[in-house]
Amino acid sequence: MGASAQAYLSSEQERALGEAFMRTLRRSLHLVEDPEIANYLENLGYRLVARSEYSGREFHFFVVNSQVINAFAGPGGHIGVHSGLIALTESEGELASVLAHEIAHVTQRHIARAVEATRQMSLPMAAAIIAAVLLGAQDAQLGSAALAAASAGSIQRQINFTRSNEREADRIGLQILASAGYDPRDMPRFFQRMLRASGLPENPLFEFLRTHPLTTARIADTRSRAEQYPVPEQAAGPSPPTTNEALKGTLGGTPDGALDYALVKTKLEVLSRHDPQPLLQRYREPDESGGTAEPVRRYGLAWAALRAGDTATALREAWRLAAADPHRTAYQILLAQAELAAGQEAQALERYRRQLELSPLHPALSLYYAQALIQAQRPREAADLLGELLHRRGGSPLLYRLLARAENDAGDTVAAHRALAEYYFLNGETASAIDQLRIARALLQDLEEGDPRLARIQARLEVFKQVFLEEQQQSH
Ligand SMILES: [Zn+2]
Repeated sequence: MGASAQAYLSSEQERALGEAFMRTLRRSLHLVEDPEIANYLENLGYRLVARSEYSGREFHFFVVNSQVINAFAGPGGHIGVHSGLIALTESEGELASVLAHEIAHVTQRHIARAVEATRQMSLPMAAAIIAAVLLGAQDAQLGSAALAAASAGSIQRQINFTRSNEREADRIGLQILASAGYDPRDMPRFFQRMLRASGLPENPLFEFLRTHPLTTARIADTRSRAEQYPVPEQAAGPSPPTTNEALKGTLGGTPDGALDYALVKTKLEVLSRHDPQPLLQRYREPDESGGTAEPVRRYGLAWAALRAGDTATALREAWRLAAADPHRTAYQILLAQAELAAGQEAQALERYRRQLELSPLHPALSLYYAQALIQAQRPREAADLLGELLHRRGGSPLLYRLLARAENDAGDTVAAHRALAEYYFLNGETASAIDQLRIARALLQDLEEGDPRLARIQARLEVFKQVFLEEQQQSH
């Protein structure tokens, strides 16, 4: 935090390292691509960042599909939360506690020293080592394991946060939580549950406890600090996302913390199961104990039914939900997806179109609508919508994959191969990305010399080749 922090990587270097880190993760882990879940976590994260001393630093939030209990802050403000950890939370405030703690690690530059120790390494090497340390060996098959193990030791010592770092992240995290309208008591409450659930010390499933050493003393400390804050007037009532919108464009819709959280957690559970049948059974039974609210149960039932191919059940439950609460975007998306599955294409398209009129360029709605347009053989409209979304909010693997499909169907094969190249690149498959750009270049050369797209493809190809070279050096 002192003057020495200024000597660390430039923001440009840190951004490049952050991007290399994400490519490494995508190559070895499954990130949750579902646009609603991704959007929810981003919005929650940005709402908290807006209450921190973020001083313009970039943040990105994403969900890792893994039953390992973990959350981590990587270089470049990339904060990941595992689906296993989300499943262990019982309220939005508890999930926000973990994010606030990780945000504090970033704002307080806690991993800067460890990142600095990788300065002499190539980007892929640095990214692989940081990923191996943050995620642990059993979760990530990260590059050359032996090499990573050999060099990881010293980095590990610098990333394994010291007790004072952990206390500071808790303290700053509590401030962020309180300022965003959450009850700071959610933090010690969740930490306590995590420690109890881990049972044995060193339980390998609880990766979070290895990188963020959690003791009963630390929890007690955090609890007495949390007690000093007043209890928020409305439980789990996040403040309006004013600064959030400034950060990431207009998001549309109003947050309704408790229900939105419960719906996202339920969808995540349905999507991360290999077999939807047990959940389908569970959600068929009304919860007499009152543990699961009725709309949440119906929502889970509908998504599980969709996954299991029971379109009639999905459609019936989605209709009920949307009729009772017509302004909730999650229900409109569910209903439109059920309509698509039932072959009611026109209704689904019209539903998405109307929703997007209310929330223009809503990222989840836009991606679902684009997918539906492709299915309805209207690829040009899909490509235009995706292009606009890309321009305004940046790309993701899902966006590029849909864009490639839409451009291909619309007959622009050059654009399709360029989009596919970006898709592969984000996923860390650099050789495939280069192949796609070479195909695009060859197609253009057949068409016409001097096409302005040629220069852009060439420039991008040089970037990919450079990265490929570094990655090759790392594996030898
Ligand atoms: Zn920590």
